[in-house]
Amino acid sequence: RKHDQEVDQEIFNLIAAESKRQEEEIELIASENYVSRQVLQAQGSVLTNKYAEGYPHKRYYGGCRIIDQIEELAIERAKKLFSAEYANVQPHSGSQANNAVFQAFLQPGDTFMGMDLSAGGHLTHGSSANFSGKLYHAVSYGLDPTTERINYAKLRQTALECRPKMIIAGFSAYSRKLDFAEFRRIADEVGAVLMVDMAHVAGLVAAGLYPNPVPFADVVTSTTHKTLRGPRGGLILAREKYARKLNSALFPGCQGGPLEHVIAAKAVAFYEALQPEFTTYCRQILQNAQAMAKVFNGNNPARIITGGTDSHLMLLDVTKFNLTGKDAEEILGSIHIAVNKNTIPGETQSPFITSGMRIGTPAITTRGFKEKEAERVAEMIVTALSNPTADSILTALAAEALDLTAKFPIYAK
Ligand code: PLP
Repeated sequence: RKHDQEVDQEIFNLIAAESKRQEEEIELIASENYVSRQVLQAQGSVLTNKYAEGYPHKRYYGGCRIIDQIEELAIERAKKLFSAEYANVQPHSGSQANNAVFQAFLQPGDTFMGMDLSAGGHLTHGSSANFSGKLYHAVSYGLDPTTERINYAKLRQTALECRPKMIIAGFSAYSRKLDFAEFRRIADEVGAVLMVDMAHVAGLVAAGLYPNPVPFADVVTSTTHKTLRGPRGGLILAREKYARKLNSALFPGCQGGPLEHVIAAKAVAFYEALQPEFTTYCRQILQNAQAMAKVFNGNNPARIITGGTDSHLMLLDVTKFNLTGKDAEEILGSIHIAVNKNTIPGETQSPFITSGMRIGTPAITTRGFKEKEAERVAEMIVTALSNPTADSILTALAAEALDLTAKFPIYAK
């Protein structure tokens, strides 16, 4: 058989183009990262050929003896990484993991609480456009307008009023540490299950640089592709007593055959995250975020929501530049800096326009940026947003971005 590449030049040309784009852009999208070659290799392996509905040693298909070993390794490594009693490595995505938790603990129509999308929550935490808000009764909590942080007293009050069956702690765009002990206390007081969605900070948690929710939560979900730097996918961790319930909620509840090539890639990523170098990497993520925050804090009119960050991400209010989030995303895109527009607390614009943007340091840190480069990138952002129509300035910044990325190749040739 002819090699695929000769047959389908179109797609492989596009993959090469995307690879070039990734090499040439300063990637500040907080949910993105660059996986290792080993992760790529595992995901691109023959494991994609195998059906394995079920769980290790309880499959609905023959020929799973090797697959079982792979999945068991992934499970063991995930448990070790987060000190969890139970791990399910099969969710195809973070949203699938969350869907399974809803199925395991709630009935359609049941009340649950999650962070409002516009305050930094995820779609699956109760958005009316998502299964979570359509099938279940979502009561959202937001942020305190003054501190722009979670107001736990108010959250408790809302919980006492609506008596949720489940409370979700977790976010896609909140830069501060969550108080998992306080969430636990509130959940206990109202008799709710506590679910933590640690998708954004899973890598930092694995490295011991962000509080581990596992000891506090009944169930923890995650993606594996953000700070954790694995393949795109999901993960569920829980107390052992919920194992059966969660396993059956995911399969056959939400999914069919697991993606064993992705599970192998997850296993590789967990192995990498268990190494001491991963902690060094995560420490650098935080240092780079601090370096950027320092520049923004020293540069009017840049304003970081909450004044700073405890993690890999921060939200910038761009209204004082007289820009919308959409404008900012486009301007930075023109100088090879990728960010995403984002709603901010008290948002007045639609989610397609927004007043802010989200910035994260996991990807630039993987390619080797340290404080010096992170600081410079933040300065470039401020200069670009302050001079959005000055073509000569933007052209110079675009050239500088290309120089910088060329010095830090992602996949060294
Ligand atoms: N949960 C949180 C907190 C997220 O930020 C995300 C991704 O953006 C998800 C879940 C969903 O992950 P996926 O895109 O893999 O469905």
